[in-house]
Amino acid sequence: MDLIRPAKTRLHLLKFSVKSGRFRVSNPLQCQSKASYARLVNYRAFSSTVRGHEEQRQHRVAPDPLPQRNSKRSRRSNVFRYVFVGSLGIVAFAFIYNQVGSTSQSAIFEPPRFTPFTITRREIVSPTSILITIRPSIPPNLIPSDPYGESWRRGPWSVEIKQPQLQIARSYTPLPPGADDEPGDLRFLIRREHKGEMSGYLWSLKEGNDIWLRGPKREYELGEDVSDVVFVAGGTGIAPALQVAHTLLERRNGKINPNIRIFWANRRREDCLGGNGSDKQELGPVVRVIDELQRRHPGSLKMTYLVDEDGSYIDQKKISAALKENAGVKSQPIITRIDSKMIFVSGPEGFVEFVAGGKRFEGGKEGQGTLGGLLGRMGIRDWKVWKL
Ligand SMILES: Cc1cc2nc3c(=O)[nH]c(=O)nc-3n(C[C@H](O)[C@H](O)[C@H](O)COP(=O)(O)OP(=O)(O)OC[C@H]3O[C@@H](n4cnc5c(N)ncnc54)[C@H](O)[C@@H]3O)c2cc1C
Repeated sequence: MDLIRPAKTRLHLLKFSVKSGRFRVSNPLQCQSKASYARLVNYRAFSSTVRGHEEQRQHRVAPDPLPQRNSKRSRRSNVFRYVFVGSLGIVAFAFIYNQVGSTSQSAIFEPPRFTPFTITRREIVSPTSILITIRPSIPPNLIPSDPYGESWRRGPWSVEIKQPQLQIARSYTPLPPGADDEPGDLRFLIRREHKGEMSGYLWSLKEGNDIWLRGPKREYELGEDVSDVVFVAGGTGIAPALQVAHTLLERRNGKINPNIRIFWANRRREDCLGGNGSDKQELGPVVRVIDELQRRHPGSLKMTYLVDEDGSYIDQKKISAALKENAGVKSQPIITRIDSKMIFVSGPEGFVEFVAGGKRFEGGKEGQGTLGGLLGRMGIRDWKVWKL
């Protein structure tokens, strides 16, 4: 078709001369060459013959400049069409992917509204803390395979839980998912506060009861270059520490093999039963989570359990040794970014203040405050300190 169309176009330029009984070209400049012009003016005035000759010529000879120009142009326009259609396809794919992604994130959470979950498991950890597992109150087939994947990939995060009678809400930190958890399950370590309104309410709930959640809320964006972490956690501060370990060990592409040291301070041994290798036969529920991570990533996650009852406390000497340990020779590229080496501190207010100085309200919200406490006195350089 492409070969024929230009020929027809050219024939429209011919005019029939009654006088000579011949066709003549109305504008010879439209001809591609003198030869083709001469051929055209000598054709007999029989349209069928003209068409027949012209068509034969078109099929026999190499395409003349006009068809060449046209085929080049049509090839170019085809390329343009492919690029255009391809780009449209990519945009459409990105849009659908994004929609599906955000749907899977929002299938469970619908901020700013609270959504219902059901307590599927309640374990007593110690006289002051429990571990609860909750599941979204929606049909299982509506729960995506990794509904919190985006939150886990980026670093520590929390949710708010509501007390429906008092209409108050407090933040809580999901523990990393366990091997037996269903997609959509979330686990929390809840410490019972003396006369605490929300913790008292959560403590009173039974398996099968509903609770209401809102989130997720990002607590810190872990950079892609984080290679060394020292985490000083007190009590339930272990939850964000395990989140950081989970993100770096299980959710990153494995380019960096991180070194993580967690100090976990508790008042009672029951809170970290089985930690430090003693009484291994009986592991507390949280120590089981830690144990699982350590088994999956040997050498990458080191734990130090500190128990008030046993007379072991966090101090400068222990932190200093951990910083030196992590500054050792590594089989990975040297990274100079300041936030590749992180010290996190998390736990009750008094604990955070003792280790790194208190947080302060800055510009209407809770900020980091100045560096104080143990870390402030150590004059740490090369490490970024963050209070969670
Ligand atoms: C980002 C983030 C994540 C968190 N994650 C967790 C988590 O995973 N697990 C967890 O257990 N906690 C977590 N918390 C803490 C949690 O949000 C609550 O602050 C905690 O459970 C206490 O809430 P409450 O309502 O029980 O205590 P509140 O009622 O708010 O009481 C707070 C304190 O005041 C004292 N108090 C209250 N009333 C009285 C009174 N009449 N007389 C004397 N003292 C009183 C209580 O003893 C308590 O120490 C997190 C906090 C944040 C900010």
